[in-house]
Amino acid sequence: MPTTTALVFDLGGTHLRCACLMRERKFANFTQERVRSFHDGLSPFAIWNELLDKVVSYVTSSQPLVERDAPLAFSFPGPLRESGSIVNAPTVSGLDEHVPDIRAELARRTGRDVYLLNDVSAAALYLARQSPWDRFMVITISSGIGSKICFRSSGNLVLFDKGPYAGEIGHLTVDESKIAPTCDCGGKGHLGAIASGRGIELLARRWAVTNSSAFSSSLCHRKFGATAETLSNERHIVPSIRERDAWALKVLEQACRPLAKVLNTVILAVGLQGIFVIGGFASSVGPIYVEVLNHLLQLGSDYSPLVFSPQMVKLIELDEQACLHGAAEYALMLHKEPE
Ligand SMILES: [Zn+2]
Repeated sequence: MPTTTALVFDLGGTHLRCACLMRERKFANFTQERVRSFHDGLSPFAIWNELLDKVVSYVTSSQPLVERDAPLAFSFPGPLRESGSIVNAPTVSGLDEHVPDIRAELARRTGRDVYLLNDVSAAALYLARQSPWDRFMVITISSGIGSKICFRSSGNLVLFDKGPYAGEIGHLTVDESKIAPTCDCGGKGHLGAIASGRGIELLARRWAVTNSSAFSSSLCHRKFGATAETLSNERHIVPSIRERDAWALKVLEQACRPLAKVLNTVILAVGLQGIFVIGGFASSVGPIYVEVLNHLLQLGSDYSPLVFSPQMVKLIELDEQACLHGAAEYALMLHKEPE
């Protein structure tokens, strides 16, 4: 008999969410607590120890709710190797690559099967249940850029997420110039340093210096009081875009150009039917983000067998339990088939 219950976890840069998956995909005993990261000045060793202790104590206190062989599934904010081990967790322990083998450690301490999946994969599995498409991509536009492709085959979901670079389109070099911005991975001119929230802020600051008269007539300056030095997404750029300020929209459009090229390539390569856009920056801009992206996608797509439609891009605001649901889906998918 396959299990129908699981213990599911979602680790973000600042939170750990836990839940018990019960029958009929309902959650019980949902908890959310703040976790400490390298931003709090903790050593990687202390961060991981604290986190593992929290997970183990949740598993212990939830024993009565789940089956004896219920697995653990863990949505993780970083790339994973094909073996399931973690490459790094930039939002949790910085670029330190000595992340412990969480899967083995949790399996040893709880005596249960443990599955780890990337958080964008978890979001993709969650969205698959409400997707009108059989072949789709999820992209996250926040301080960086990530993606995953998912497809449905004979009713089963398949994720393209094997290997530590699967979905890491944010690290494609799209600017080879000398002044190309540096990515948080250390690379230069990567898509994630240009079309992300961080990239857009940097481009706006550069433009504010190189063409100060255009900048001073923008809402960023006139209405929201920005200077080239203080210009920020939260206080100036995003509010200006939402009021359709021409200067701010131009910054957004310029930054999104290489992203549209990459997405059009993937649409043609895989025959994608649609793209879900998630992530803090895209959500903060709202429907105008998708409008700008659609316009650029359309410009780069005049091949007649593909009739691009604005319906192919959907902006989704994920609720706080989305990655837990994705992790639950993953646990049920893997746990029913003995490997
Ligand atoms: Zn990079």
